[in-house]
Amino acid sequence: MTHPLVTYRVVCAQNQRNLYHRVGNVAREDSVLSTMQDVPLLISRILTHGSTVHGSSRVTTWTGEPEPHRRTFAEIGARAARLAHALRDELGVRGDDRVGTLMWNNAEHVEAYFAVPSMGAVLHTLNLRLPAEQLVWIINHAADKAVIVNGSLIPLLAPLLPHLPTVEHIVVSGPGDRAPLAGATARVHEYEELIAGRPDHYDWPELDERQAAAMCYTSGTTGDPKGVVYSHRSVYLHSMQVNMAQSMGLTDQDTSLVVVPQFHVNAWGLPHATFMTGVNMLMPDRFLQPAPLAGMIESERPTHAAAVPTIWQGLLGELTARPRDVSSLTQVTIGGAACPPSLMAAFDKLGMRVCHAWGMTETSPLGTVARPPAHAVGTDEEFRYRVTQGRFPAGVEARLTGPDGAHLPWDGESAGELEVRGAWIAGAYYNGPDAEPLRPGDKFSADGWLKTGDVGTISPDGYLTLTDRAKDVIKSGGEWISSVELENALMSHPDVAEAAVVAVPDDKWGERPLATVVLRPGASADFQALRTFLAEEVRIARWQLPERWTTVESVPKTSVGKFDKKVLRRQYAEGELEVTRL
Ligand code: ADP
Repeated sequence: MTHPLVTYRVVCAQNQRNLYHRVGNVAREDSVLSTMQDVPLLISRILTHGSTVHGSSRVTTWTGEPEPHRRTFAEIGARAARLAHALRDELGVRGDDRVGTLMWNNAEHVEAYFAVPSMGAVLHTLNLRLPAEQLVWIINHAADKAVIVNGSLIPLLAPLLPHLPTVEHIVVSGPGDRAPLAGATARVHEYEELIAGRPDHYDWPELDERQAAAMCYTSGTTGDPKGVVYSHRSVYLHSMQVNMAQSMGLTDQDTSLVVVPQFHVNAWGLPHATFMTGVNMLMPDRFLQPAPLAGMIESERPTHAAAVPTIWQGLLGELTARPRDVSSLTQVTIGGAACPPSLMAAFDKLGMRVCHAWGMTETSPLGTVARPPAHAVGTDEEFRYRVTQGRFPAGVEARLTGPDGAHLPWDGESAGELEVRGAWIAGAYYNGPDAEPLRPGDKFSADGWLKTGDVGTISPDGYLTLTDRAKDVIKSGGEWISSVELENALMSHPDVAEAAVVAVPDDKWGERPLATVVLRPGASADFQALRTFLAEEVRIARWQLPERWTTVESVPKTSVGKFDKKVLRRQYAEGELEVTRL
């Protein structure tokens, strides 16, 4: 049988050729050849650069002990080489074998990030918050040969092993009871013993830059997980974009607190980007609760941090209850879900400037960044730009498509589905063993653009404003209501900690909004007061105001910390929510 990754590459190559034919971009034999060197853009080159030119930059891993663990980029480079030797010589990792990681953000995970793709194999980051059956499905779909696991996650992995026939090796790193692995048929190795005494240097192969480097499955917020396979080239180009001043723009004077998990779209590209520029990384490991996060900001003094909005909501609550010195942290990247303007304003007050960004697993993830245009800086307009999803960087092309397939103007008003194209945007999903050959499905347009499933507008000056995910839009009597707009409005009320709005069936209108709110302790507002607030303070149109309301202790979250609207819709359908009708 043809190997699935080979099938994937062939199909991608075919797609690319078709695309070239369509745009008439076929190389002519008599054309002048460039005189530039054709050096493949490889992850091994990022590693070599980071561990030499920026050899003294550091990865600091939080341990929960008084002293965190510190390792320089030079040490990471040497240990990545040792790990690659071990994977090849001891575990027999060859060609494009997949090596899974079930790990928190820490130095060893960074080592795997570089060792596995640099040796030519494929790193498969596993989302440790997925339900067991989805993890099993993903590991089997990717046919992982080995899994590197943090000791603290053995209780999660061990019960899955009987269902993982392709996994021949388990490599355990860090503290945690090994006992649950006792009966495993896969060979169990200790990370430190495995890499000890091996050479500090590895002759990294000169790979094809289009070869698979890493894979990540979408977290399935709106359906089954789908595998996205990044190439060396896409990772390299994306890292350069992350480093640009209009993206994160960090330097070796910065320390980035990487809260976004390494299993969530490569921690938004930070491990690769930081090795290009020498940015120090502060890794929280398993200490992701608001109190330890506040503690590590106070003691390690990072200048930048990146995470989804729910993490920042939690941190804000912690800092309000127990103020700390967080003055070092001046730049915060928020993405993965819409950043409520109220959250942005609250962080601004603390001196932490929020930069809002949009992306997806399929876009590596950097798709837009909301840096205001020069003319708006320092004016009243600035905030308005900052709460949009932002501008597309060079390298990401965008268009909006209406329901009839027509492309819509960038006029800030015409709303349609966002489609994107670019060198770090997926052109297909990984189908895996026994799958049918890939065809353009409903996630890709016939001419090869990624259909994001996100609905919004683009202003004449190129700022994207997302109003919703296509699946979350509330279709009420032929008009669309934005669930995100209602949520942001509700979360701007001082008594509301969290709010999620979903569409529920309605006999008269087809669908109507259900508002689910989490009230702050001691809150006095009731549903009627919140409805009046929406109507009179925020000036939401009357026909958009929810009449169905419910409270919950906390909004259900997905495996990457987003509001899980699938769960809310199901809970409503099954009558599990106590709903008040106004
Ligand atoms: P999943 O699809 O499982 O949630 P992803 O992390 O790939 O996993 O999610 C990408 C989606 O997250 C986008 O399509 C979009 O709907 C949402 N998203 C990401 N960033 C933002 C943002 N800044 N504003 C609004 N939505 C966002």
